[in-house]
Amino acid sequence: MAHIELDTLTKHFGDVAAVKGIDLSVNDGEFLVFVGPSGCGKSTTLRMLAGLESITDGALTIGETVVNDLPPHERNVAMVFQNYALYPHMTAAENMTFGLDSNGLFNRSGDDEQVAEVAETLGITDLLDRKPKALSGGERQRVAIGRALLREPEVFLLDEPLSNLDAKLRVEMRTELLELHRELQTTTVYVTHDQTEAMTLGDRVAVLNDGQIEQVDPPQLLYDYPATRFVAEFIGSPAMNILPVDVLGRDGQFVVQHDGFEIPLPTTNELEAIAGSPAYFGVRPEDISLAASLPAEAATFEATVSVTEPLGESLLVHCEVGDTELKVKTEPRSTVSPGDSIEIGVDEERLHLFDEQGNAVYH
Ligand code: ATP
Repeated sequence: MAHIELDTLTKHFGDVAAVKGIDLSVNDGEFLVFVGPSGCGKSTTLRMLAGLESITDGALTIGETVVNDLPPHERNVAMVFQNYALYPHMTAAENMTFGLDSNGLFNRSGDDEQVAEVAETLGITDLLDRKPKALSGGERQRVAIGRALLREPEVFLLDEPLSNLDAKLRVEMRTELLELHRELQTTTVYVTHDQTEAMTLGDRVAVLNDGQIEQVDPPQLLYDYPATRFVAEFIGSPAMNILPVDVLGRDGQFVVQHDGFEIPLPTTNELEAIAGSPAYFGVRPEDISLAASLPAEAATFEATVSVTEPLGESLLVHCEVGDTELKVKTEPRSTVSPGDSIEIGVDEERLHLFDEQGNAVYH
C-alpha cells in the first residue's frame, strides 16, 4: 500500500491546459474517486499517475518516491482501462498473467495457484480457458481486474472500468469492487463521469472541473455542503434547483429575494459581506415540501404544477413560482396533476447560497 501526493500537478498538450496544478493527498488504503464532466482532465490525471502521460510541471509522489520520471512498470501501480485492453488471441488466464515476469512483480512458479485464487475471488474459475470473444462484457471486465490484482500493486488505477457494462451489471460490479477494496485495502484511484458511481465507491470524491479540483470530500459532505455552485449542480440527481437572487439586509435580518418570493436567512458574516450583491440560491428537490407536510409557521409559496414525473420511490413535480421553475421531490403517491395550484415550502435548514463567482457563502 502507498499514499500518493499530487503537488501542483500540471499537464499541457501544446496550448491546451488539461490539468491546471492539482494539489491532493490520497491516503494509504484510501478509495479516491475523480469525477467530473467530459474533458475536465480526469483521465489525463490518472494517466500521469500510471506513467502513461508525461508530467508538464509539479511533482507526483507514490509512497516515498517521486515518480515523475519513472516508467510505468517501475511505479508498482496496476491500471484497469474502460475497454479492458485484453489480447484477443490469448485465453483469460494468459491475459491475466501475460507480461508479469518482465516487471519482476510476480513469481512465475506461483502462477497457477495465484491465478486460481484470484479467479476464485472474481468468480471466473470456469472461464480461464476462454478467449475474450467468448466472454461477456462483465466477464471481460473481471479478467481485466484479475490481471491488475495478480500484480499485487501498491496502487490500483481504474479509468471508467464499468462504463461499457449494462446498468444492472454496473451496480453488481460496483458492489464487488467495494468488497475487493475492503478485503485488500489497496490504495485506489478511480475515474468516472458518473456521480452515482463516485458517491457509492469513494471514501472521498474529488470533483474536477476544467483541469482543477472544485472540492474533495467524503460523499455525504459533498452532497450536504457543496463548496461551489458547480459541485452543487453536478452532484445529486435530479439536480439542485439554483435561482439567481438578491441578498437584502432588512431590519437586522437577511432575506434572499427572487421574483416575488422571499426567504429569511440567519445573519452571518458571510451574508453581511455579500448583502446588496447578486447571488445564487440553491435548494435540492427533496428539501422542498408540499405545504401540508410543513410546520404551520413555515414560509410557503404558491406554485403551479407543470409536469409530474413518477420515479417509483418518489414523484418529481416540476412547478412554477411566478416565472421560476422549481423541481420538487415528493411522496410517490401524491395526487398532484399538471395545472394544479399547490403550496410549497423549503426546509430552512437545508438552503445554500453561492456568491456571484459561485463560491458557497451559506449552508
Ligand atoms: P472524458 O470523460 O471525456 O474521458 P476527461 O475528463 O477524462 O474526459 P481528459 O481525457 O483528461 O478528460 O482530457 C482533458 C483535456 O485535455 C480535454 O480538453 C482533451 O481534449 C485534452 N486532451 C487529452 N488528451 C490530449 C492529447 N493527447 N492531445 C491534446 N489534447 C488532449
